[in-house]
Amino acid sequence: MPEDVRHHPRIFATLTAPGFGPVHRANNGKRCNPRRGSGQCEHGRALGCGLEHGDADPLVGQPLCPDCYDYAGHVLWHAHAGRLWKAFTDNLHHHLATRTGQTRTALRRTLRISYAKVAEYQRRAAVHVHAVMRLDGASGPDEPPPPSADASALADSVRSAAAAVHLTLPYHPALGEHELRWGVRLDARPLRADGGPETLTDDAVAAYVAKYVTKGATDTGAGLDHRIDNPAHITTAPVTPHVRTLMATCWHLSSLPELEPLHLRAWAHTLGYRGHILTKSRVYSTTYTALREERAQHRGAHSTIADDPGTVTESQWRYAGSGHTPGAALIAAGIADDLARNREVARDASNTATGGAVGTG
Ligand SMILES: [Zn+2]
Ligand SMILES: [Zn+2]
Repeated sequence: MPEDVRHHPRIFATLTAPGFGPVHRANNGKRCNPRRGSGQCEHGRALGCGLEHGDADPLVGQPLCPDCYDYAGHVLWHAHAGRLWKAFTDNLHHHLATRTGQTRTALRRTLRISYAKVAEYQRRAAVHVHAVMRLDGASGPDEPPPPSADASALADSVRSAAAAVHLTLPYHPALGEHELRWGVRLDARPLRADGGPETLTDDAVAAYVAKYVTKGATDTGAGLDHRIDNPAHITTAPVTPHVRTLMATCWHLSSLPELEPLHLRAWAHTLGYRGHILTKSRVYSTTYTALREERAQHRGAHSTIADDPGTVTESQWRYAGSGHTPGAALIAAGIADDLARNREVARDASNTATGGAVGTG
């Protein structure tokens, strides 16, 4: 039997940023931030909001009180999102090993975890991450992982591995102490080619992502597609007051010598986030060339492509504007890979069959 990679355990996970302060939200026809009583913060602003906001309401994503909102925490979290992801994937091997009853070394000998992920800005201008993750055998997609490592073991491990990430930043006299972690609103669910309870088919995941996904950074107004080299540009940028404050926070924090390695000034336009919007581990990288060509055509002569063939950077994220949401690109990068591979496998199998080379057993 040729190996059908679509039957390898796969999950769809969404990792979010934690809360940095209450924001107005479109709450599916329910009230925004209902609260008993009529409390006020120390700045005299209401601690709750009884309004029902529609998706298009410009208030959605704006903090209830900008003075209470942890702007430094938000920017620092963005600036460390890469390290948070790294810590999560390190934990993931450990947690999956524990769950399947083996050592981490033994686990690495029997399986490989590959993924494609897309980073997106939520309405509150915080990045969250959608990822398709797949388990293969140790040699890659040609080999199934051991049976104990199934999709629900992977989903459970994703949840516990993300929850276990704590990154404590050194104490800073101006900023205090910051402990960075993933948000508690974390989703991880099995993906299956054939559907079933608590699972998603490849078709369904497209709809699922579309519902989840907002849009690209510039579309949601969460940032600009070019660098800011003058603080006056922050004042005039066509963004919400919330995003403007995040940009200004990057600019101000960049003057602290301890934070220099974070390059916050250079990344003020992406609110401190300097990661890639679309990232794939090597196994998931075969459709990259197609993505790159399409984007290059879209961008024309101004296209600048990252040297790393596995990544597409923020400023190059024009792909979203061509009718592909980042979620659709995730599908293109992850699921389409599986499907293409599956067709290849099927073709190989039929070639082999017509060539009469199938063993008679
Ligand atoms: Zn509200
Ligand atoms: Zn306040």
